[in-house]
Amino acid sequence: MLKGKVAIVTGSTSGIGLGIAEELARLGADLVLNGLGDAGEIETIRSGIERERGVRAVYDATDMSRGDAVRGLITTTVETFGRLDILVNNAGIQFTAPVDEFPAAKWNAILEINLSAAFHGIATAVPQMKKQRWGRIINIASTHGLVASTHKAAYVAAKHGLVGLTKVVGLETAGSGVTCNAICPGWVRTPLVEKQINDIAAQRSISQKEALRALLAEKQPSLDFVLPAQLGGTVAFLCSSAADQITGTAIPVDGGWTAQ
Ligand code: NAD
Repeated sequence: MLKGKVAIVTGSTSGIGLGIAEELARLGADLVLNGLGDAGEIETIRSGIERERGVRAVYDATDMSRGDAVRGLITTTVETFGRLDILVNNAGIQFTAPVDEFPAAKWNAILEINLSAAFHGIATAVPQMKKQRWGRIINIASTHGLVASTHKAAYVAAKHGLVGLTKVVGLETAGSGVTCNAICPGWVRTPLVEKQINDIAAQRSISQKEALRALLAEKQPSLDFVLPAQLGGTVAFLCSSAADQITGTAIPVDGGWTAQ
């Protein structure tokens, strides 16, 4: 379905981004992987995708907290592959604290990586996608782009901002062959959530297993985690022709979290 297309997935060395990158490669897209981590492990992921899927995969170490570098990632991709069809803005970080104790440096970092990086990437990618008369911009927001939780001021602000940005870009690209949508996952068991499970276990003096159940029971009625591969499937749907007229939306994949 995606043979000949070129996709960037930011933050694809782990978790959700990796699940999305694997699905896009399975469908034949050439890939730019990005994210932090051990160089050897990243190379194993990159070469494994190339070998198993027969696509071209390159790794770009751009730090998503630097707007100029994010713009460079888009430019370099177009120079390397001659095109850019799919941009998945996924890189993200989390930090939790009450608003009056929230460190300003953490606020700034979350806004930069979870929101501003998407702005810089989109701003640079849109002219290229319009020229090609086809493009898919997919922002990995969160249920926290639609509703709030305590102790997540920066994350909730950034993800609501990302949903707002998605709507504007959906309007500005309407009719051009480019679409822009957000996906809003509920709990997905990745390193980002693992820390929150550990915190609950420590705060309440309960086991990991009990903490995991408590985390799900509080928010996610299905009582089950969303899988990175399922989010890969949602991205694939948004890249299909069935989704040509879907733009400016925020799609929850959340086991019922935001239906409450
Ligand atoms: P993760 O920690 O497994 O992955 C985050 C990725 O972002 C990693 O590849 C990491 O290296 C990369 N990254 C972080 N800072 C970076 C930087 N400065 N420059 C480049 N890359 C950077 O977490 P995840 O759960 O897979 O999160 C992916 C996205 O999904 C995030 O935007 C997160 O907010 C969102 N999300 C996660 C959940 C969840 O339950 N896990 C739910 C909703 C939304």
